[in-house]
Amino acid sequence: MNDYPIDTLIQTLRESSQKRRESFGYEQRRIALTNLAKTVRRNRLEIIAALGQDQGKASDEVDVVEIIPTLSEISHAISHLARWMRPRRVWPTPLMIGTTTRILPQAKGVVLVIAPWNFPLLLALGPVASAIAAGNAVVLKPSEMTPATSALLVKICAQAFPDGLVQVVEGGPEVSRALLTQRFDHIFFTGSPAVGRIVMQAAAHHLTPVTLELGGKSPVILTHDADLVDAARWIVWGKGVNAGQICVAPDHVFVPQSLLESFAQTIEAQFALSYGADVGASPDYCQIVNQRHFSRLMALMDDAVQKGATVRVFGQDQPERTKIAPRLLLGTTPEMEISQEEIFGPLLPLIPYDDLSEVIAKVNASPKPLILYIFAKSRSVISRISGATQSGSVGVNLTLMPFIHGNIGFGGVGASGMGEGHGRAGFDTFSHLKPVMKNQFTLLTLLFPPYGSRVKRMVRLLLAYLK
Ligand code: NAD
Repeated sequence: MNDYPIDTLIQTLRESSQKRRESFGYEQRRIALTNLAKTVRRNRLEIIAALGQDQGKASDEVDVVEIIPTLSEISHAISHLARWMRPRRVWPTPLMIGTTTRILPQAKGVVLVIAPWNFPLLLALGPVASAIAAGNAVVLKPSEMTPATSALLVKICAQAFPDGLVQVVEGGPEVSRALLTQRFDHIFFTGSPAVGRIVMQAAAHHLTPVTLELGGKSPVILTHDADLVDAARWIVWGKGVNAGQICVAPDHVFVPQSLLESFAQTIEAQFALSYGADVGASPDYCQIVNQRHFSRLMALMDDAVQKGATVRVFGQDQPERTKIAPRLLLGTTPEMEISQEEIFGPLLPLIPYDDLSEVIAKVNASPKPLILYIFAKSRSVISRISGATQSGSVGVNLTLMPFIHGNIGFGGVGASGMGEGHGRAGFDTFSHLKPVMKNQFTLLTLLFPPYGSRVKRMVRLLLAYLK
């Protein structure tokens, strides 16, 4: 629980951030990030226990999808910090000859990170690491839906950081709303498009820049020459981890009509290989975060069945533990709710097609997805689909991975978000990239008034030179 009123807390953070402005250099940031990595390692068993409590996640899955990607993000920032912080040289354009310019990455000040529940460690500490690397003070608001992990984040940040650098504020939407009335220098929000709108509206009041890491329906396009077994392995992984509660989980799969049945069987076989015949009973397969989301997913399925879809289920549900066995849905239509909202759970519609152009048209008629997956061998088909569709990113013959690649930024486009996080893109997001331009001997002074024959000559020369 939070001991101080929110405005006092932010004022204190702002004052200490201003005092630190000149002293929070490379060494201090490196130490803060190193301490964060050490604290995460030291608390590894507590993290596993908290995620077990919040989401029924297997300890190996916590290691693979939470702890290792978090440590990888921090370690990548530590290794590249000196380079990211260095002023960046800019070449002069012809008119600017005689000047030198450097881009100076500068901390924005006090930033707000609002995190979701689905990867409650990674999606909280990842942006915090980028913000610290960039030299900011941070207010972190974790999700109320994963209370054990949120409480642990308070402890981890208190152990890792000096006073006045990172403040964790626990609570639900009401706390978020109270935070959003305050002035921040950047807001980094990860969550649903609906709440993204609220965040952006609130940010407009103070003209605060926002990064919105949102969700949506990320489609998979399976093509005629795809390796079905390989595609099934990746899709089952992308839909099985976190029981499909991932912003970049495959939402639905477009499958060539002629491959529909064999692909459905390959998916079934792959679920059995990964989790056993009764996926719902597997200790490696986690629960749905709460009763509300369990009921939401059941309602999506019921609506689809009532409207004519058929379902293949891979195991037993365990309602008392909010576990839903994965299901394939066949025969879904655009009117069904499952075709309209982000599924965010272990239900996978397979949508048959005859002509790739139809699929491209369908993707382009829908809100722009966070990621689009292609399973294909033909290079020309891969580049045709990548070029003809818009999405935050594209994954070819894999799932989930672009989200954790340290050397690319990750973010959405259109309805799936704006701005980028991770690696250098995350560092730049939390920095003001300030040009500092110096005059050496610029010829532009020849164009200063009084205007006359000298200026006219210069103008003639420039008009002839510029294309
Ligand atoms: P959410 O939008 O419900 O909640 C996110 C955060 O916003 C939480 O901290 C919550 O307390 C806060 N919040 C909730 N209601 C609010 C309100 N009315 N006003 C202000 N703040 C409020 O999202 P969620 O359910 O935690 O996460 C699932 C969503 O996040 C999915 O849409 C998923 O696709 C998306 N997501 C996106 C990414 C990405 O990187 N793009 C990553 C993970 C999840």
